Amino acid sequence: MPEEWVDFKSVKAKVSMETVLSHYDVRLRRVGAGEFRGKCPLPTHSSARSNDSFSVSFIRNAWSCQSASCIAARSGRLGGNVFDFVAEMERCSIREAALRLDRSLAENLLPLATPVNKEPVHYTSENRPLSFTLRNIDHQHSYIVSRGLTEQTAWYFGVGYYDGNGFLRGRVVIPIHNEHGELVAYSGRAIDQTEPKYRLPAGFRKSHVLFNLHRAIQSRDNTLILVEGFFDTFKVHQAGHHNVAALMGSKLSDCQTDLIATYFNQVILMLDADQAGKAATTAAATSLSSMIRVQIVELGLGSQPDQLGSKEINQLLGGLAHDLSSPDR
Ligand SMILES: [Zn+2]
Repeated sequence: MPEEWVDFKSVKAKVSMETVLSHYDVRLRRVGAGEFRGKCPLPTHSSARSNDSFSVSFIRNAWSCQSASCIAARSGRLGGNVFDFVAEMERCSIREAALRLDRSLAENLLPLATPVNKEPVHYTSENRPLSFTLRNIDHQHSYIVSRGLTEQTAWYFGVGYYDGNGFLRGRVVIPIHNEHGELVAYSGRAIDQTEPKYRLPAGFRKSHVLFNLHRAIQSRDNTLILVEGFFDTFKVHQAGHHNVAALMGSKLSDCQTDLIATYFNQVILMLDADQAGKAATTAAATSLSSMIRVQIVELGLGSQPDQLGSKEINQLLGGLAHDLSSPDR
């Protein structure tokens, strides 16, 4: 018998996590914009202790369970999409889960995903995790020193001069991760006046990630300090603020807005004080302030965080960041 055909993409576009959760009568509480949390409904979940380990993002149309029992039962996987969820609930394959959803849709047993919000955006699937890491990176290269980074900072971020082969040869490479901490690209900074100043792999969507977001999330701070570039991030981190992430440009995309609002309830905008940065600050403040609290750091005209020392950065952030930082850092 020929295998029944199923269009994964089309099914995925029609079925939201919201629909699937209500189908299984899973009740969660809202913990942020489009973020819900509660008791894990999966049959793989065997821990009685972790009662609040299951979280769902309607924005990313994804779920995860942080319980060690559940992760181990799923061979180390933290979560997934609608197919993974149905497959776990029904104890069937991903393909079978897609088929069941497709049939339910055809028989009108499932409501279609409501297009109230825009189509669910799958940030991470656009920028697929890399299957390699670059080796022999020099964290003490003179360019890095000249930008005011300590060796420890460079090592921490994995930043260094790359002398190997490929399109990043002879550049300072900066590893970029998605919000889950998966390495998705390297950016290569020219160490002289060579253009382009930054090189990124073809097809990489920088509007779908925020540089250093995964570490900012891990800092467990409710506040995110948002800067423009890689070196701004390094300097703010070096000044003692681990809750920092960068736009990798001056424009805040819709995806980035959603990412920030998903993980933080306050943002401090610390963008460059040039014309582009000022415009970006206004635009970012407008789109973020409908969802979370926004504060703005006023830098001196023409100044940008990567040119500042730790003392100046701390003075600027002053009461803003410190009052809100978690005490255990
Ligand atoms: Zn679980």
